[in-house]
Amino acid sequence: MVGSVAVIGAGVAGIQAALDLANHEILVHLIEREPSIGGHMAQLDKTFPTNDCAMCILSPKMADVARHPMIQLHTFSTVENIEGEVGNFTLTIRKMPRFIDESLCNGCGDCIQICPVEVYNRFDAGIGVRKAIYKSQPQAIPDLVVKDAEHCIECGLCYDICGTDAILKEQKERVIEVKVAAVIVAVGYTLFDTCKKSQFGYLRFSDVITSLELERMMNASGPTGGELRRLSTGQTPRSVVFIQCVGSRDITVERPYCSCVCCMAAIKNAIQILEKYPETEVTICYQDIRAYGKGYEEYYKRAEAMGVHFLRGIPGAVDQDDMGVSMQVENTETKEMLSLHPDLVILSVGIDPAPDLSKIAELLGIPLEETGFARAANDAVAPVLTVKPGIYIAGTVSAPKDIPDTVAMGEAAAMKAFRDVLAAEVKNS
Ligand code: SF4
Ligand code: SF4
Repeated sequence: MVGSVAVIGAGVAGIQAALDLANHEILVHLIEREPSIGGHMAQLDKTFPTNDCAMCILSPKMADVARHPMIQLHTFSTVENIEGEVGNFTLTIRKMPRFIDESLCNGCGDCIQICPVEVYNRFDAGIGVRKAIYKSQPQAIPDLVVKDAEHCIECGLCYDICGTDAILKEQKERVIEVKVAAVIVAVGYTLFDTCKKSQFGYLRFSDVITSLELERMMNASGPTGGELRRLSTGQTPRSVVFIQCVGSRDITVERPYCSCVCCMAAIKNAIQILEKYPETEVTICYQDIRAYGKGYEEYYKRAEAMGVHFLRGIPGAVDQDDMGVSMQVENTETKEMLSLHPDLVILSVGIDPAPDLSKIAELLGIPLEETGFARAANDAVAPVLTVKPGIYIAGTVSAPKDIPDTVAMGEAAAMKAFRDVLAAEVKNS
């Protein structure tokens, strides 16, 4: 169909672009590699600087996508090939098997309850578990389960309990082709591999966690029901230290860029911790606080006024012995050497390009920066354009950015793609 657009990636940028186009009667193929749409925003607890619940903003948009007649959703799907030019692209989409008859599953979750197999839960960043048959997030869209063939032991319990006989023993991948006038790439990001900064003890010391693990812990629908816990003892920590710029502004791990959101995310989580546990001693060890957006500086000042201790200096390493976690850090403002002994350390982990971006960029013929992010035609005046007509980029595909900028790019890319659809329709009329 000439008058349609493919949006690759269904995080908040892709969702926004898809809804804007669909609301203008443009057919959208929204393609998402995960079993559910929502992206990283669905993992967050609150958003800064308003402390709004992230899912309260995102889930209505996800529901709009699910029921929109002009959006064809391809979840658990990847783009295998792209050919053509502006006005006439052909995309080959590979749909991975869920081992579910999607027309029969009603998302009741009975199979999840009865499944005896528990495995690592990526959505909870590993601090929770999921079953071998599962929903990839609590408010999954589409509201369907996936049977994880790698971990399923074929005990048969889920087949017996499913009232609609929706679960399949066998299912093959499917490959489909769609024709579109324009493509929006919104595949998001992944987090820096924290183990590359091994001096901070992540995965060696149980009371050293990542910022994403903290987000899941602070979330009422997360694995601890919203309670902040030390993973070593299960107790509430009395003191917490955030270490900023883990995998950002650090040439030793080839990440020279600022990840843009980690300062504000740490401030947000520090505020959340103090609102919930006012007695906690909260310290943020930073290089520079970057509070550049609307209302961000005020938010930073609010955290300071609440008692968050901002310490300018990054510890060289984190250690742990029988007495607990410890670290030495120089306060670079006073030149004083300090020894910190927090109950819990939170590593504010930086943003890396999405793992599938290089493949998609190669298929599309769009260049990448040295950092691995996509190169815009002109970052200053054309941030959603690429060198290739009809191919647009949105969200963190081009660089780390916060949610408001991500949404704005989704809207801008939709407008550019809309223009291509109109041009293609005129050409073909
Ligand atoms: Fe419910 Fe069956 Fe779907 Fe599981 S597969 S969620 S039991 S309908
Ligand atoms: Fe879980 Fe597999 Fe047993 Fe179903 S058959 S309950 S998915 S282990």
